[in-house]
Amino acid sequence: MSGVLGFVEHGPAGPERLSLEMLTVAAGDDGVEAVVVGQPGAGTSEQLCAFGVDRLHVIDHDLVGDYAPEAWAEGLRQLIATRDPEVVLAGGGEHGNEVMAHVAARLDEPLATNCVVLTPEGTGTDGWHLTRLRWGGILYEDAVLTSDRKLATIAPHVVEPVPSRAAAQVPVEAFAAELDPVLARTRVRDRTTRSAGVSLATAPVVVSGGRGVGSAEGFAVLEELAELVGGAVGCSRVVTNNGWRPHSDQVGQTGTRVAPDLYVACGISGATQHWVGCMNAKAILAINTDPEAPMVTRADYAVIGDVHEVLPALVEEVRSR
Ligand code: FAD
Repeated sequence: MSGVLGFVEHGPAGPERLSLEMLTVAAGDDGVEAVVVGQPGAGTSEQLCAFGVDRLHVIDHDLVGDYAPEAWAEGLRQLIATRDPEVVLAGGGEHGNEVMAHVAARLDEPLATNCVVLTPEGTGTDGWHLTRLRWGGILYEDAVLTSDRKLATIAPHVVEPVPSRAAAQVPVEAFAAELDPVLARTRVRDRTTRSAGVSLATAPVVVSGGRGVGSAEGFAVLEELAELVGGAVGCSRVVTNNGWRPHSDQVGQTGTRVAPDLYVACGISGATQHWVGCMNAKAILAINTDPEAPMVTRADYAVIGDVHEVLPALVEEVRSR
């Protein structure tokens, strides 16, 4: 048992940011191999090489075209049985955590999800010491992973994805997994709502609205601002509960975690469940009528006022520049 296997999620634009963050955490380890499910786009092998990957495995099969967590996990399990890596890592997004949970169950081995610190070296013989997010990110938990094989996912935005070496072609090998059709009984087609071509999870600016926006129509001005600054629109759970925006826009414990350069919180109170989704933003601007709202007291900048007045003025100002 040796080496690291990273489960890399990918789309038309190449590897997902979460996967590159995971590989950045693994950088420096010897013998890093990666696995993708479905044919990777052009340039993926070179890009992964820059992030420390020496060999890329491709699981391609009729059953894995759509997201089918059980089929993907069984493919991974078979690859793990063949390559016998000591460490298996994935990004701690929805798919990474779900697939790895199935992998762990199939291997009958423990899984540590949403790790923010992994200290494999110098931790004695009792195993890997790690810190992971619990309760949707409200709590940090120190734990020790004592199994021989270490299965873990890396919480989003723990590190900036940084290449560790020059890009070059690495060996790409097809892995012929044997999959039973029953494994694909749950298949999910991805539906990602994007604003101005920018995804919520990776947008440099997120313009987010809460109950204070007042209606679905009220989000038009947030969309306008987001488009002007190359950002994405987010929202609170009250907004998705009211049907003003789709769940894919929700930021928070049960939504997306974001870490933009700027998070603009419009009419959002800043409940803990929302805060854990945006607290990694480099700067927060709160627009709220209540100067005591938690979002206002924690924000780097605040405008105390009605979003229906402040946002149109902000849009006008940005347009004029
Ligand atoms: P409110 O708390 O009602 O706040 C509205 C804010 O708007 C207030 O601060 C008010 O002063 C301000 N305001 C009102 N009118 C205006 C105006 N005209 N101009 C400016 N400001 C104005 N919530 C999430 O967001 N994401 C999650 O992932 C999430 N997960 C949850 C999971 C669980 C298990 C539970 C129990 C709750 C979860 N919640 C989540 C809900 C969360 O607890 C809050 O209820 C929610 O975040 C509140 O949304 P809000 O800030 O839009 O509304």
